[in-house]
Amino acid sequence: MTEQRYLPDADDVTAFEATVEEATEAFVVLDGTYFYPEGGGQPADHGVLEWDGGRADVVEVRTNHGDVRHYVENREGDLPDPGDAVEGHVDEERRRDHRRMHTAQHVVSRVVLDDYGAETAGNQIHADRSRIDFEPADFSGEDVRAVERKANEAIESDLVVTKAERPRDEVEERVDEGRSLLDLIPDHVDPLRVVEIDGFDYCPCGGTHVDSLGDVGRVRITNRESKGEDTERIEFVLEPAE
Ligand SMILES: [Zn+2]
Repeated sequence: MTEQRYLPDADDVTAFEATVEEATEAFVVLDGTYFYPEGGGQPADHGVLEWDGGRADVVEVRTNHGDVRHYVENREGDLPDPGDAVEGHVDEERRRDHRRMHTAQHVVSRVVLDDYGAETAGNQIHADRSRIDFEPADFSGEDVRAVERKANEAIESDLVVTKAERPRDEVEERVDEGRSLLDLIPDHVDPLRVVEIDGFDYCPCGGTHVDSLGDVGRVRITNRESKGEDTERIEFVLEPAE
């Protein structure tokens, strides 16, 4: 069982110490980690694990029945043993890009829900570009420009972003209809990790996020396409704030 230490609000930590629970040629399990495991439309963190007499690159991170497996390549030295101490170093640039992208996704999803009543049916974040699928939606070019403009207005307001674990019943009461696929989260998951953009958005989410909206930069929507009868896909990139 690995403690996911970036929860509830430590998305800025990229260097840490932990203890090995299991080590194989393919992966290392620690008692706790700050590496983000792939999920929720966000790719895994990458980075390095170091221990006395060895090191390895972390190239993929996945959860497996409560464990977080750090998949390793380019190992130097012998495998560590259970009980050994390791130092973890998360690739800071990749982490920062994913944080900015994921918070931008929440902002765009909120704008579209408020102005067009469309839910976020899916999303995929990358370090350099991201996409969101909305339904039911049928956007014009003018709609897309309006979404971009309103998202950037929100970002410029530089609202505080907090992450915290909340009792499930509070989340069910506070989250807006259409802002969360709460039904898909098993009932036993309680508390839930919530990402809140002060006075703007409240959404259960396990991803890594910026601490302040101004850190996102500027959203530029690069593409819109229809994905079926009432689904619209928007793609965006981030640019530095002007
Ligand atoms: Zn999210």
